[in-house]
Amino acid sequence: MTTLDHTHDPSARSWLASANVPGTDFPIQNLPFSVLRSHGSNEAFRGAVAIGDQALDLAALSATGTIAGAAGEALKLAAQDTLNDFMAGGPGAWRALRHALFDALKEGAASQQAVRACLIPLVDVEYRLPTRIGDYTDFYTSIHHARNVGRVIRPEDPLTPNFQWLPVAYHGRSSSVVISGTNYHRPHGQAKLPGSSAPVYTACTRLDFELEMGFFIGPGNALGHPVPLAEAEQHIFGMCLLNDWSARDHQFWEMNPLGPFLGKNFCTSISPWVVTMDALAPFRLPFERPADEPQPLAYLDETHNRQSGSLDVQLTVNIESAQHRQQGLTPAEVSRTSFRHQYWTIAQMLTQHTVGGCNLQPGDLCGTGTISGPTPSEAGAIVELSQGGTRPITLAGTGEQRTFLEDGDAVILRGWCERTGAARIGFGECRGMVLPAIS
Ligand code: MN
Repeated sequence: MTTLDHTHDPSARSWLASANVPGTDFPIQNLPFSVLRSHGSNEAFRGAVAIGDQALDLAALSATGTIAGAAGEALKLAAQDTLNDFMAGGPGAWRALRHALFDALKEGAASQQAVRACLIPLVDVEYRLPTRIGDYTDFYTSIHHARNVGRVIRPEDPLTPNFQWLPVAYHGRSSSVVISGTNYHRPHGQAKLPGSSAPVYTACTRLDFELEMGFFIGPGNALGHPVPLAEAEQHIFGMCLLNDWSARDHQFWEMNPLGPFLGKNFCTSISPWVVTMDALAPFRLPFERPADEPQPLAYLDETHNRQSGSLDVQLTVNIESAQHRQQGLTPAEVSRTSFRHQYWTIAQMLTQHTVGGCNLQPGDLCGTGTISGPTPSEAGAIVELSQGGTRPITLAGTGEQRTFLEDGDAVILRGWCERTGAARIGFGECRGMVLPAIS
């Protein structure tokens, strides 16, 4: 479990003025990682850290030789064209580099001039996936989402009997995980619509987003060797925003009895910046389970997880329709919630994933499942917001109505952490747009 140190001091300031602007996602207390290059260039992709409105090019920084020792070794790993090796380095390497970068970026740093030469404006970069994602697994850990969607599929018995006993998940496709800014075509598939006797082959008519967070695996575990809950977070590098786009008509027809398949595997978007568990340390909350609900089995229960296993991350979903863009209007906010409402913690998800001996590998991606809070406006999917497509929502700005997503709709996820006594940190955004089906 991460602890607070001088890198979390809310009064710490950077010599880079934009890092000290109130409301920035990337103050010196954050230092999230990505892989990028100058936009439209043929440069090699390399690791970077966000600071204010700039990206610190870690390959350029490594070449200056200003960071030595264990942090210098970690810097070489993080400077590569994927972050897999750096994530494999484990908490010692992550913390050594965090501390060295903090020292290099803080007000009065001796190396300021050399480090400043390694900055690239964020508006001038293009990203790619931060890791080679070997495997991608998506959990299902919001009880509010499970109940809301369960009511659409099984009105008589919305919550499945296993939900309160284990973090449910399905194995997804890593090949169709894409970086924020990637647009995709509305998928085709089989759907059996209410009232019809046979399925049809059709472009999706019930296209949805899912507001989720992702977490990246650090050091993996050997096949056959489960990770105990007390050690789970040593295997988690950090978190990002994740949109698990879903074709509800295809999904609800195909998913019995083996779970999601084509309804989920056409596109999954993630934000470019991975916020480390170290940076998230000030925003931990106790994991609580009401006394009248099933308590976790012993292997999913542990003191630190009880004390601080949950995380308070504020999240919003905005829809920007073609009309919003044409008229220059602000995208419409359609949901606002927090990650703190999840029924299971990311440590419990990781332990559950490995309990049978499944091996996780550095750079693997896990999704948390849709994040829906307790009230209707906190729902993290449009199928919930529109009550299964029966009650259209109205988009602020244009007044357009939506039961599901239309062609030209861009969905923008945002996340940030904020509390008294800590510096606000953010995740940036995760964006993707629906293009018309290919006929
Ligand atoms: Mn999902």
